[in-house]
Amino acid sequence: QTIDIANPTRTQAILNEYGLRAKKKFGQNFLTDLNVLHNIVEAAEITAEDYVIEIGPGIGALTEQLARSAKKVLAFEIDSQMVEVLADTLKPYDNVKVIENDVLKVDLGTVISEEFGDNAHVKIVANLPYYITTPILIQLLRANINWDNIVVMMQREVADRLNAVVGTKSYGVLTLTIQYFAQATLAIKVPASSFNPSPNVDSAVVKLTPLKPTTVVDDVGKLFGVIKGGFSHRRKSLWNNMLQTYGKDARTKEQLTVALKSAQIDPAIRAERLNLEQFTQLYLALCDQNL
Ligand code: SAM
Repeated sequence: QTIDIANPTRTQAILNEYGLRAKKKFGQNFLTDLNVLHNIVEAAEITAEDYVIEIGPGIGALTEQLARSAKKVLAFEIDSQMVEVLADTLKPYDNVKVIENDVLKVDLGTVISEEFGDNAHVKIVANLPYYITTPILIQLLRANINWDNIVVMMQREVADRLNAVVGTKSYGVLTLTIQYFAQATLAIKVPASSFNPSPNVDSAVVKLTPLKPTTVVDDVGKLFGVIKGGFSHRRKSLWNNMLQTYGKDARTKEQLTVALKSAQIDPAIRAERLNLEQFTQLYLALCDQNL
């Protein structure tokens, strides 16, 4: 009778055996609540046909549950000490591959083609390292990959940003990225006591499902360049942020003025007051001005 990795006693025993402590710099908080893990796997609707990507397997608590339900699991772990532990803890599962790397440095599209085949569909599941939740989400959404759903644990405060209302403090680049690519729903609220060690914040599992953008743009990178530029100094006006992005010479000022006018946007406004549709209009108007 094997005991699940997520069992609190076994988790502590594994850490002791390897003389390890959770590393703050890598956002390590290990899930020790089997119920939460089962709910995550259920929310992701993992079946025996599924290819799954996991980010940050740690000692393998979630990986193990995924391996039992999925066809194959590919996990990215930055911490070489964890990779050593995983070689032991995941030995019973022959459908798991761990890649030692910083997930933010991985070209996910290429790795997925290599491991699962061209255009393979994936489900992405993770108990995210909280210090890089936003860059990871933006990377996942902007990468050119076919994902069926993304089910990820994050800090509750970040979860609130995903569906933030225009004009509020939580509204920003992450909100707009989600709006363009996905529908976000809160799947599970998770107390700090479900982890070893307990994080100092509340957590939530969010489920993202893909969304066809209402207005498809030719150059998504450029659209998000416009958005990022607009938010570069939150307290400054859109006009000031745009001058900083595009330049302050007379010709550029003229082009920006025309673009803002044609998009019907007041230059004195702040980016946080603009919705995705308005940013899209601004992007199109800037393209017309060759900016
Ligand atoms: N999945 C495990 C669990 O649920 O118990 C561990 C989750 S822990 C919150 C986050 C994991 O992400 C850690 O194992 C950490 O080492 C790993 N990690 C941190 N930064 C990473 C990065 N840039 N790339 C890949 N893994 C990373």
